[in-house]
Amino acid sequence: MSDYQIVFNKACLVGNEQEYMSQAVANGHISGDGAFTKKCSALLEQELGVPKVLLTTSCTHALEMMTLLLDIRPGDEVIIPSFTFVSTVNAFVLRGARPIFADVRPDTLNLDESKLEALITPRTKAIVPVHYAGVGCEMDAIMEIANRHGVPVVEDNAHGLFGRYKGKHLGAFSVMAAQSFHETKNFSCGEGGALLINDPEYIERAEIIREKGTNRSRFFRGQVDKYTWVDIGSSYLPSDILAAFLYAQLENRQKIQAHRQKVWNFYYENLKAWCAAHEVQLPYVPEHCDQAYHMFYMLLPTLELRQGLIAHLRQRGILSVFHYLPLHLSEMGVLFGGKPGDCPVTERVSDQLIRLPFHNALTESDQRRVVEAILEYEF
Ligand SMILES: *Cc1c(COP(=O)(O)O)cnc(C)c1O
Repeated sequence: MSDYQIVFNKACLVGNEQEYMSQAVANGHISGDGAFTKKCSALLEQELGVPKVLLTTSCTHALEMMTLLLDIRPGDEVIIPSFTFVSTVNAFVLRGARPIFADVRPDTLNLDESKLEALITPRTKAIVPVHYAGVGCEMDAIMEIANRHGVPVVEDNAHGLFGRYKGKHLGAFSVMAAQSFHETKNFSCGEGGALLINDPEYIERAEIIREKGTNRSRFFRGQVDKYTWVDIGSSYLPSDILAAFLYAQLENRQKIQAHRQKVWNFYYENLKAWCAAHEVQLPYVPEHCDQAYHMFYMLLPTLELRQGLIAHLRQRGILSVFHYLPLHLSEMGVLFGGKPGDCPVTERVSDQLIRLPFHNALTESDQRRVVEAILEYEF
């Protein structure tokens, strides 16, 4: 168990998780694509207005499926923000692609669309915006640039489920998007993910790749009379027991999102005066974005002050964390030619950012303790 009284993240039940898992077992179908997997896919397709949703074993695996569907090969270039989780880039590097790291905007910490076009070359095979903290990237500008160059866009929407940009759901803008249902995300089944497919051209092959390179999905629908090996592929189906857990969470999406909105607003309202007085930057949500309330972060003026605040909170039993060491300066990033100064905003915010405890079981009294502890941090 943790030494912290207020942890950063905590898994919790929000509804019928246990009952649905028992039902999945009683159904006698606990491998992939059982009744609960179908319920999750149907719910997401309908809510998001996406033609096809395939549950996967993780967001990382959904990203790997994208790279197979886009036929990413050695020598291809992929434009990815340096300020993201390792999986966004690793899925492409696994296929031999070369990551071209893009910097982020200083306000939303999303891929800086004004710097995008300069990174496109004839070898660019994909652009991968990440909706950081569940706040939408500038999708109009990104799609316009990408379309003009004929480069496909795929979204890493691990943070952004049910968030919107100009009224349209995040994950619905590009050819495909990846979702995460990891324990740390808004909706979880421990480990899990989904591939959202907006361009119907990719649906049939996605089903094959997810089913070990076989046409088993078509066989089950009675569209072919036997199933066989037809393409490359792997095993990206989660057990229906996990889908049962996830369905209980997705069913409670309003409750979960309402709670997370309350948590976010409490931090914002109670910290804004202190932040203004200390030149601490709060998260910025553009007017045209409905955020997904994935996290609450602040940017302290310096690395020393950020580390100091993490230590100050630790002494009071509160776990806060920093976020994203710049990928272009990581051990792997350097092998691809990354060097200091390539992405100045990423390098700066990576030193300054602190994330506060944020989860579906966080109470207002927990939050009050976090806020009081922050207000006692003198500098
Ligand atoms: C969590 C996360 C992932 C990976 O999700 P998994 O489901 O753990 O594979 C990928 N990208 C981003 C931006 C994430 O936050």
